[in-house]
Amino acid sequence: MADDPLPLFDLRRQWPMLREQTMAAFERIAAAGAFSLGEELEAFEAEWAAYCETRHAVGVANGTAAIELTLRGLGIGPGDEVITVAHTFVATVEAITATGARPVLVDIDPATRCIDPAAARAAMGPRTTAVVAVHLYGHPAPMDMLSALGVPVIEDAAQAHGATLGGRRVGSLGAAGCFSFYPTKNLGAMGDGGAVVTDDDDLAPAVRSLRHHGAAPDDANRHVRWGGTERLDNLQAAILRLKLRHLDSDNEHRRLIADRYRKALGDLPLGLPPDDEPEGRAVHHLFVVDVDERDRVRAALRKDGVLAGAHYPTPVHLQPGWRWLGLRPGDLPATERAGARVLSLPCFPGMREEEQERVVDALRRALA
Ligand SMILES: *Cc1c(COP(=O)(O)O)cnc(C)c1O
Repeated sequence: MADDPLPLFDLRRQWPMLREQTMAAFERIAAAGAFSLGEELEAFEAEWAAYCETRHAVGVANGTAAIELTLRGLGIGPGDEVITVAHTFVATVEAITATGARPVLVDIDPATRCIDPAAARAAMGPRTTAVVAVHLYGHPAPMDMLSALGVPVIEDAAQAHGATLGGRRVGSLGAAGCFSFYPTKNLGAMGDGGAVVTDDDDLAPAVRSLRHHGAAPDDANRHVRWGGTERLDNLQAAILRLKLRHLDSDNEHRRLIADRYRKALGDLPLGLPPDDEPEGRAVHHLFVVDVDERDRVRAALRKDGVLAGAHYPTPVHLQPGWRWLGLRPGDLPATERAGARVLSLPCFPGMREEEQERVVDALRRALA
């Protein structure tokens, strides 16, 4: 076996390509002492809004803040219920809880691994004020059916930068799109970052104010709402501007890797990720198969020098910190089944074909 284990995601691959321009941006910003709320941030916001085909983008500190500030900007808080899934990164549910609203967790459609629109409809009640749809693993959630529910649909697009549905970018499909720029995301900063994109001319300034202590747009010393320290800083914005130029080609590489996996794994006893929607294109933030005995298979891969992942092995409603929601094992069967079976294979821009062959060979041995 090769000596270095193959990681799920290798963040070092792109540095040589980015080094010179990143260092120049660093020099420019440090020499100007312009670290917060400045030109780089505004320029990135304009470029990200254009990319997402929305009127506004507001840079925030991370993806969790993007969701929380969007909900608060829409006036959602204590007494409200917000429907989302338990098969997601815990941050989706944390952001809802942080507003004071109650998260109502519903099951997924096992075919798409995204929210089951029928389950969302069944969970609608008099206090329901929003749905947070997660485009999990880069696969667009069923936005049409969710939009028909009659409450704002907020997109958790933290895993889906650049994905499309009906020819439109995710993030532009609902009331607002929330992105994370955590380093491993399809568009990643060199630290934390996030953004809210929207066409809503009231929501954008509200989020802008919330990220900066509730400041009034024209007077930083007037605090018109309770906000916080949730800004995207200029260094991260500058890095994101550089990396945005590579987002489409990075996503193309992810698609190529996904296509090769599909062909190579077709005869193995495992479930492949869903094909693209007829009207959509996924961006394969993760390439997630499902297998029996996931933990055994994952351990065998690790012994064989391949670091696979599980996103997410324990659904949010079964996490110790979330028992207060009152859900129990068996309440979300498709979610729980997915949690026990999902296996994420290495898939990242810059991954080489022979590395992918290593993964396929190791998986073949593990499932033999
Ligand atoms: C990463 C992620 C988040 C949170 O983003 P942070 O920047 O880490 O706060 C939210 N939802 C999903 C689905 C994510 O993958």
